Amino acid sequence: MADEFAAERRQLLAEIDLEVRDTARWLGADRLDPAVRAALERVPRHEFVPDWERPYAYQNRPLSIGHGQTISQPYIVAAMTQMLRPHASMRVLEIGTGCGYQSAVLAAVVAEVWSIERIAELAEAAAGRLSRLGYDNVHVKTADGSAGWPEHAPYDGILVAAAAPAMPPALVDQLAPGGRLVIPIGGGRFEQSLTLVVKDALGTVSVAPGLPVAFVPLVPGEG
Ligand code: SAH
Repeated sequence: MADEFAAERRQLLAEIDLEVRDTARWLGADRLDPAVRAALERVPRHEFVPDWERPYAYQNRPLSIGHGQTISQPYIVAAMTQMLRPHASMRVLEIGTGCGYQSAVLAAVVAEVWSIERIAELAEAAAGRLSRLGYDNVHVKTADGSAGWPEHAPYDGILVAAAAPAMPPALVDQLAPGGRLVIPIGGGRFEQSLTLVVKDALGTVSVAPGLPVAFVPLVPGEG
């Protein structure tokens, strides 16, 4: 997308490339998947932040989006997307829509995204924004994401953008054989590990803790 932020977006991508290289041992790859990189190059992050944050939209850090919530750091969005090993026919469940930026990045690389947000105003704003920007393969609803979205299960990938003290069992249940679930697990804000859950073709689940992260908490119930 050619816009006034195109140069800043390219600069951000160069920073993400370096950070991916520095954290290769956590990500299992030392460079971004070309499809994920192309999505990050295209999605206009400035459209997903409040007006007062626009000048900072392409800095590699989280920003406030109101309601005490944040838009994730771009490197973290890149890392989580990559950990799902996304592909064009994949169906993905996302928990914690927030502003919808991560949903848009996913929507650019997979077939279909179902996204759950507990705060109704954020969910409605994100749904409107995603549809205005043409991401018509994202479906947003207001609910407690810990229960997943059983109607559309199983999912080839599940991405959770809020930290849970323990693995929500419904999400593991709703993962398809061969599927991957990426979720920050940990109690305190600074004691979380970006955890990868893989369900093999026979349904056996393996859990691998990874990158240290600092997400807002996964809160029970609707907001
Ligand atoms: N995906 C966003 C980041 C979202 S921050 C991005 O692209 O930047 C985490 C979001 O998870 C917040 O909006 C918060 O309200 C939401 N959240 C917290 N607990 C939740 C729950 N139980 N179910 C659904 N959403 C939840």
